[in-house]
Amino acid sequence: MTSPLTSLTELAKAADQCVRCGLCLPHCPTYGVLREEADSPRGRIALIQGLAEGKLSVSAPLVEHLDRCLLCRSCEHVCPAKVPFHGLMIGAREKIGESGYARKPVDGRVERLLERSDDGKLASWLRLAYQTSGLQWLARRSNLLPAELARAEGYLPPPTALLETRERYDAVGAEIGRVGLFAGCMGRDFDALTLKSAIRLLTAYGYAVVMPSARTCCGALHLHQGDIPKARDQAREALAVFSGLGVDAVIVASSACCATLADAAETGEQAPPVLDICRFVAECAKSAAGSGRRVTFRPAENPVAVHIPCSQAHALRDQTSITEILNLIPGIELKTLPSEGGGSVRCCGGAGRYVFDQPALSDRIRERTLDDIADVGADTVVTTNLGCALHIGKGLRESGVGGRVMHPVTLLAERLI
Ligand code: SF4
Ligand code: SF4
Repeated sequence: MTSPLTSLTELAKAADQCVRCGLCLPHCPTYGVLREEADSPRGRIALIQGLAEGKLSVSAPLVEHLDRCLLCRSCEHVCPAKVPFHGLMIGAREKIGESGYARKPVDGRVERLLERSDDGKLASWLRLAYQTSGLQWLARRSNLLPAELARAEGYLPPPTALLETRERYDAVGAEIGRVGLFAGCMGRDFDALTLKSAIRLLTAYGYAVVMPSARTCCGALHLHQGDIPKARDQAREALAVFSGLGVDAVIVASSACCATLADAAETGEQAPPVLDICRFVAECAKSAAGSGRRVTFRPAENPVAVHIPCSQAHALRDQTSITEILNLIPGIELKTLPSEGGGSVRCCGGAGRYVFDQPALSDRIRERTLDDIADVGADTVVTTNLGCALHIGKGLRESGVGGRVMHPVTLLAERLI
């Protein structure tokens, strides 16, 4: 796990670790599309070094090159010199913020959606009404919405029933433990099916589940913008709602949120461990096999494409738990999407608010993922990160490739007997 580098001396020292070998370049999604040295990891490190050593000042071109980075961490994953790129980029973005440089804001309505902190019930009902009344159909065909709002609207997942608001769920059979489930700032509205599925699986494996009603955020959106104090406050608040509940661990069902919260828990005091749902279910399945608890699944008929998000592969450093849990389904045929080799996976371009801040680039980066999905010929795609699921789902719908996108635990819970 990593920490942001917050002083100019730390930034300069970390940047100096880069030996300019260029091994990271073929793994960088923005270099792959733009072919500019300044949009490669090596080029960005050079810019940060110039900034940290006072040789460069904050300017529009410098900010643009640094802001085009998705923080996918492919470069960090393959770097032989172990340059701590994530901490370096977040530290550099903090320095840009401190300089007073004003970035072009996204549409205020989209900003409010990303920043929302209400309890979300009214918004959830309104969304469902909008999607099921024919208004969405009309809006998408009439082109009446302003461009940025239309783009945001396109990220709405298919309508699903609203999430129940219960805070506690009992274990099925004898209780072997109690876990907290982190719903996040958007999970109840945009990922209700994943949360419901996680609850079904966790309770089936003997865990009581506590899902506090307080809407909290892991802080990743602010961290990626370099607002380190706000990100830390949000992560602290998110973990605090689980204190005193007697949970053995906090389980997270979106890999980017999990990586951010796990970092915060490692550096915070008295926080319960933060664990990814796929890894946790994989361990549950192994324990159940040894203890005689029977949790079984109906066979699958169709092939499934497996997308491994950058946050799962490079931040959580786990590329196996998705297939481990899906292989619990008898007869399943898994088709893992191609990677870049060397353990680095292909970014889909759906890096949080990047899809609004860099719309054209995020769509171009996604093209290769959509081609990969079309090539493997599966009509179901699983991915563990909500941002990736929404970005890929939008791309599949708009490109006509079609198919459904879901979290692996949803596929597993669908087949739970
Ligand atoms: S692989 Fe590492 S050392 Fe080599 S250019 Fe990239 S960041 Fe620098
Ligand atoms: S984090 Fe990803 S997008 Fe950013 S420089 Fe590294 S490989 Fe490129």
